[in-house]
Amino acid sequence: MLKKKNYKFWFCTGSQDLYGDECLAHVAEHSRIIVGKLNESGLLPYEVVWKPTLITNELIRRTFNEANTDEECAGVITWMHTFSPAKSWIIGLQEYRKPLLHLHTQFNEEIPYDSIDMDFMNENQSAHGDREYGHIVTRMGIERKVVVGHWADEEVQKRIASWMRTAVGIIESSHIRVMRVADNMRNVAVTEGDKVEAQLKFGWEVDTYPVNEIAECVDSVSQSDTMALVDEYYEKYDILLEGRDPEEFKRHVAVQAQIELGFERFLEEKNYHAIVTHFGDLGALKQLPGLAIQRLMQKGYGFGAEGDWKVAAMVRLMKIMTEGMKDAKGTSMLEDYTYNFVKGKEGILQAHMLEICPSIAEGPISIKCQPLSMGDREDPARLVFTSKEGKGIATSLIDLGNRFRLIINDVNCKKNEKPMPKLPVATNFWEPEPNLYTGAEAWILAGGAHHTAFTYDLTAEQMGDWANAMGIEAVYIDKNTNIRDFKKDLMLGDIFYK
Ligand code: MN
Repeated sequence: MLKKKNYKFWFCTGSQDLYGDECLAHVAEHSRIIVGKLNESGLLPYEVVWKPTLITNELIRRTFNEANTDEECAGVITWMHTFSPAKSWIIGLQEYRKPLLHLHTQFNEEIPYDSIDMDFMNENQSAHGDREYGHIVTRMGIERKVVVGHWADEEVQKRIASWMRTAVGIIESSHIRVMRVADNMRNVAVTEGDKVEAQLKFGWEVDTYPVNEIAECVDSVSQSDTMALVDEYYEKYDILLEGRDPEEFKRHVAVQAQIELGFERFLEEKNYHAIVTHFGDLGALKQLPGLAIQRLMQKGYGFGAEGDWKVAAMVRLMKIMTEGMKDAKGTSMLEDYTYNFVKGKEGILQAHMLEICPSIAEGPISIKCQPLSMGDREDPARLVFTSKEGKGIATSLIDLGNRFRLIINDVNCKKNEKPMPKLPVATNFWEPEPNLYTGAEAWILAGGAHHTAFTYDLTAEQMGDWANAMGIEAVYIDKNTNIRDFKKDLMLGDIFYK
């Protein structure tokens, strides 16, 4: 279902016709070399496409408009090799609507001390040409990323790569379609939100279907298709009967297999990329979708529990942004469940009733079938595992009534100190930055939710840049957070984002 689009990024070099043909030939040659080497680096997730040097208002305008209409173009990388008078960029930038990266680099790494003369100076003017260009972009109030450094430096290439993923998130955000087969849980505040405003800001389409329509689709999945998927489960996962009759256990698992196939067909048929369910609104479904939802999340679908469509869309967004990433460690919805307040071992046990994506798992994944203390259905089958160690980010998108805020917390995921044999759900365990006490205090002051969209594979910078591109506030809780400054950040946000 995750059909990877063949996105590309255009590399546009700025100059002017003041320098003569020979100089412009060098400019073109240099930018071709840079584009070639960037593509050869193996570090960029998407291809960079060289474009002819931009030297006039007309060409700049035409190129930006072509970028707008080219479906494969996910953004433009600009660089001023020489001086390019920035008024020539105004009309093009005014009309441009896609992500913009300003690569502030220069062709040569070192000052050529022995040979440098005025010809060289005229030809290599990034240091001031890029300032002229940067000025107009700032004056026009255009959101863009600035990356500084020599183009052959691996760190610079990695920053370009990182921005490319943000850019694809920005482009793809407007194609996210969330299916609600249940409303938000009664009386819950933080999972609510303004769906019209979400579409205006993020482009998300959030639609409702009666749960029994999807239940009918589940019901129509054949026995043979269902049992073939059950066989796949039994091959792939450990089966933990825990005293249950093997046949009865398998029948419970088959219910989830049928839900997985039925849900996926329904989502595909209607072109949705994320889904929410609610344990209290299951219609004709025999079990709360557990294993089924876990598998769909691993396939790239977004998910939010108890009708939480904002988390569903955020999980989908993160799945898009991390797509095809080598050595990706995973992305999932999670929920803050229980604290460990023991000194030196502080952290938050992350779990949910059932629905944690196995992409974050480490070690064996088992199927268990256990009663659910909530709802009134059969004991649902679910995948149980523990998660990887390492750094990640937990995000919460909240609706403050007049606007959205994205809260981003750097977290350190750790191994569970001890096994929890009686806990029949998947878990993660993390300590938020800068520590549990300040991290949780800041999260609560910011109004962060109990559900989060979590990933190991993106950075706070990437998600913050996405939020800025959407025109919403991003607040960061990280190793530098202290409460006094954090409260000031929130106050400034209140003024700025009114
Ligand atoms: Mn929940």
